[in-house]
Amino acid sequence: MQNDIQEVLISEEELSTKIKELGAQLSREYEGKNPLVICVLKGAFIFMADLVKTITVPLEIDFMAVSSYGASTKSSGVVKIVKDLDVSVEGRDVLIVEDIIDSGLTLSYLIELLQNRNAKSTKVVTLFDKPTGRTVDLKADYTGFTIPDAFIVGYGLDYAEHYRNLPYIGILKPEVYSN
Ligand code: 5GP
Ligand code: MG
Ligand code: MG
Repeated sequence: MQNDIQEVLISEEELSTKIKELGAQLSREYEGKNPLVICVLKGAFIFMADLVKTITVPLEIDFMAVSSYGASTKSSGVVKIVKDLDVSVEGRDVLIVEDIIDSGLTLSYLIELLQNRNAKSTKVVTLFDKPTGRTVDLKADYTGFTIPDAFIVGYGLDYAEHYRNLPYIGILKPEVYSN
């Protein structure tokens, strides 16, 4: 698995430092509130786990799984809910935890869905942002790292369901895709 990695883009230590910063910011943002923190599966599962440990306000968590139809490295914009939330978002301060925003299609669909379900507020924290990939007008409220338009894996993010367990963010060797 490590042999498939061309380059380590972001180390474990850099990830951990950044997540602590985000947690401190979010703790201030949600002071006196009881946010519902929603993990968008599967990619955000490790980020979610590390992030909530750094947030100091009372909160609740829930999970949602979505998949976009189409090719494996690009979003098609057609989003399917694979697993819906267990709890209602009505009147809740909702924080969506995403792994990465590329085109923005997945997230714009999710935000609209949660607003239609009458969430009180809907904010987004994403660990990674690829602004050059954007096809809809969308900005996260909190962003960990802005990265170039390359396909990254590790720390929850997959290629063909593999590499999620790498503790760092890497770029795959080109030959991995052609196998
Ligand atoms: P969007 O709808 O913003 O184009 O894509 C969002 C989803 O596409 C992410 O949640 C993730 O599942 C996948 N994705 C986009 N860019 C990357 C990337 O560089 N690496 C990986 N592993 N997944 C990505
Ligand atoms: Mg995602
Ligand atoms: Mg994926």
